[in-house]
Amino acid sequence: MIFPEYRARRLRKTPALRSLVQETRLSIRDFIYPLFIFPGKGKQEIPSMPGVYRLGVEDLAGEIKEIEKLGIPAVMLFGLPKFKDAVGSEAYKEKGVIQQAVRSIKAQKSSLAVICDLCLCEYTDHGHCGKLENGELDNDATLEILAEVVVSQARAGADLVAPSGMIDGQVQAIREALDEHGFEGIPIMAYSAKYASAFYGPFRDAAQSAPQFGDRKSYQMNPPNVREALREIQLDIDEGADIVMVKPALAYLDVIARARMECNHPIAAYNVSGEYSMIEAAARAGFLERERTIMEVLTAIKRAGADMIISYYAKEMAKVLEK
Ligand SMILES: [Zn+2]
Repeated sequence: MIFPEYRARRLRKTPALRSLVQETRLSIRDFIYPLFIFPGKGKQEIPSMPGVYRLGVEDLAGEIKEIEKLGIPAVMLFGLPKFKDAVGSEAYKEKGVIQQAVRSIKAQKSSLAVICDLCLCEYTDHGHCGKLENGELDNDATLEILAEVVVSQARAGADLVAPSGMIDGQVQAIREALDEHGFEGIPIMAYSAKYASAFYGPFRDAAQSAPQFGDRKSYQMNPPNVREALREIQLDIDEGADIVMVKPALAYLDVIARARMECNHPIAAYNVSGEYSMIEAAARAGFLERERTIMEVLTAIKRAGADMIISYYAKEMAKVLEK
């Protein structure tokens, strides 16, 4: 049937009709809220991410209660250690900032799923995602450090671990370390297709993790590639990933869609700092209608095929979405 018998506009006539034929709906149960945690007390707004704060681990309880009350099912923790060194040793200390944070959330009997980001760039003095050898990332030596980090996160009570460094073999190394230490029940959310993206700029400000020299292009993916993303995703699944991730989200919706078509594992998408800051800046300048833009972007990420979305907008979405 074609025009004039078929008229596509018939189903767009009223809000009720539009609602009935709406194909994608966001739920607050889809969201994961990222938290940047430093030792001690207090809270600091991140200059390039207005409305997003770094939080002191000793002041975490109220924030966790609020997130839980809003119906958000999970938090993802990033640590800002007091000391950094060449191998990122604060990342696997029993009293490291993330280990303390997980313990305090668990002591609160929170029902939130606690996801620990698993990388070294926030903990190394050079800002790269692992151990360096002659100025280059030493892949296999880094795996040994990640294995130590993951065990310390598991001991603290992490519900999920999320390796984000794009180190070859990291999922396998982490799975083995977890299993050897009796943590075979802890799932891995792998940052499988993580691109070397300009959209991470504000995060580096938030996590104080900008590389001191060079960049991350030798381990993160080259933005023009999508078939390579599918290989990375398959490798991580073969190594034992339970959830795979595409990061960033907005400029990579095609990657999410391809991943959705070609794999049956749950897919997470990271609505990254630059995607947040871009909307905030444009809205402040009066160039975009803020709430509609946020909703459109997040809906698009879900429509592309993401099962869950890591987003700085999670708390705000809780106020507009039905539970
Ligand atoms: Zn990293």
